[in-house]
Amino acid sequence: MKVGFIGTGTMGQPMLANLVRKGFEALAYDVVPAALDAAAKLGAKRAGSVREAAAECDLVITMLPSSANVEAVYLGPAGIIESAMAGRLCVDMSTIDPGTSQRVAARLKEQGVRFLDAPVSGGVGGAVAGTLAIMVGGDAADLEEARPALAAMGSNIIHVGAVGAGEVAKLCNNLISGSALVAVAEAFRIGEAFGVDPKILTDVIAKSSGATWVMEHGHPVPGVNPKTASSRDYAPGFMTDLMAKDLGLAVSAAREKRVPVVVAPAAQQLYRMASSHGLGRKDFSSVYQFLKPSSDDAPV
Ligand code: NAD
Repeated sequence: MKVGFIGTGTMGQPMLANLVRKGFEALAYDVVPAALDAAAKLGAKRAGSVREAAAECDLVITMLPSSANVEAVYLGPAGIIESAMAGRLCVDMSTIDPGTSQRVAARLKEQGVRFLDAPVSGGVGGAVAGTLAIMVGGDAADLEEARPALAAMGSNIIHVGAVGAGEVAKLCNNLISGSALVAVAEAFRIGEAFGVDPKILTDVIAKSSGATWVMEHGHPVPGVNPKTASSRDYAPGFMTDLMAKDLGLAVSAAREKRVPVVVAPAAQQLYRMASSHGLGRKDFSSVYQFLKPSSDDAPV
């Protein structure tokens, strides 16, 4: 099967590498030359445009930053809609708003092109290991067609429902992980201020009701776990800006359905403030750096 892979950034590169390793022929495209060079080094052929990548393959995969990028790549001038043949299957693995997935799917359907939303969880580590969780929205038969390619990149492939449902599951998950990381960072700042050793506090929490995935795999305090981003000067991993985006998508989805949300908007604003103070392209656990105590002289 020949796969057109559009968006070979942080996640796209290791995902593409696994496709190539499992024997898929890949044709890659990215607007950033360095990202396309990296894809070529991984064994993909270079496409000169979105149009070329989408026209000359059996399956199109996109892994792009935001809803606006996905809309442009699929529906914009010289987008996939202009080059994909009727019957072609497209799988968008970006994290975007479910309404955009549905709009893109509906427009493609008018041309006879099929679409799945299939966002992922597991971060760069999961992408490298080929163990991503993949949450799929769309037709079950289309998922079966895409399954061999998805199985090359992930180990848990879950059909959530109709188009957009994969994105809903992803937003719900990131609402929890993004909010939980803020809670972990606040807790460790308090512990630190009282002189409690963060490693001992981690041992306690890991065996208590506060234990959480983000503390185990994304501990925000440098040095507690040598494998986490915080121990490499917060090199991502998953960027603060992307977490701010995902929480924003969750808050918008809640608003659209009139669900009251309190914790997620607060966490979203915290990530946005961390971003505007220079931490946007650092791992999202760097929000801990932003939560420094105020000086002893400040009234509280
Ligand atoms: P990234 O910015 O590193 O990569 C995205 C790539 O898309 C970039 O190389 C960019 O140049 C390319 N691109 C943008 N517009 C394009 C266009 N018009 N045509 C071709 N290429 C274009 O981002 P990433 O970290 O790889 O994340 C991609 C998506 O996956 C995001 O939606 C993110 O929220 C999601 N995600 C990321 C992680 C993670 O740990 N980084 C984990 C799960 C999900």
